[in-house]
Amino acid sequence: MDLTVLGCSAGCPVADNPASGYLIHHGETWVWCDAGSGTFLALLDEVDPDDLAAVVITHIHSDHCLDLFALYGYLEHGPGHGGPVPVFVPEQATEHLAAFARAGPGHRFRQVLAFSEVGDGATAAIGEITMRFATSVHPVPALSVRFEAGDRSLVYSGDTGPGGGVERLAPGADVLMCEATLQGPGAVRDYPFHLTAEEAGAIAAGAAVDRLILTHLGPTLDPRRSVAEAAGTYGHVPELARPGAVFTI
Ligand SMILES: [Zn+2]
Ligand SMILES: [Zn+2]
Repeated sequence: MDLTVLGCSAGCPVADNPASGYLIHHGETWVWCDAGSGTFLALLDEVDPDDLAAVVITHIHSDHCLDLFALYGYLEHGPGHGGPVPVFVPEQATEHLAAFARAGPGHRFRQVLAFSEVGDGATAAIGEITMRFATSVHPVPALSVRFEAGDRSLVYSGDTGPGGGVERLAPGADVLMCEATLQGPGAVRDYPFHLTAEEAGAIAAGAAVDRLILTHLGPTLDPRRSVAEAAGTYGHVPELARPGAVFTI
């Protein structure tokens, strides 16, 4: 299984780094996880959108979902095959996304993109990849995901504050890709819906994962400080997600 980072900028795309988006690939199976602004163009460099086996949208914040509309346009009005493509979303997300597309019952948006709302503990098998979902701690319904193929596993936190489902999904995983939107001691932050780098490192240590990849760093932060802060609690030096990076799981 491999993981390609299409973009990983928190909150908004910046020069040379789209917002959140990842490709998880094993054998003939391609899953696009999160469709933040700018990631559809990056995806076109990696895979034919017609070959996507599924899409996962962890939540409806724009830095994780906006380019889903680009995929719809490609499949329905562009060169694509017209779907349907399975799209896994958290509870309540289907109606929010359809409302943005002004897609009432029977609209092609709901046929081209075959939405499935998943909650805590849900599982899905897509081609050669299985997925297990858990709810995270965020202002809107949001998911963390564990991807498994063969005997390899990758857990992605999505956006979450402390106490989220990623802490149940991560134990025993080969790789944890965890959001680290914030820096500094967690106790002094005023926003409970993201993690500090220290907290990401502590989750990785608690789960005893072999590798930690920090992602979703605030675009104004110095990544070296995030790595140092996470290393302090993880006990190892974490890796950093970067656009275009490919990680073999
Ligand atoms: Zn985000
Ligand atoms: Zn978010």
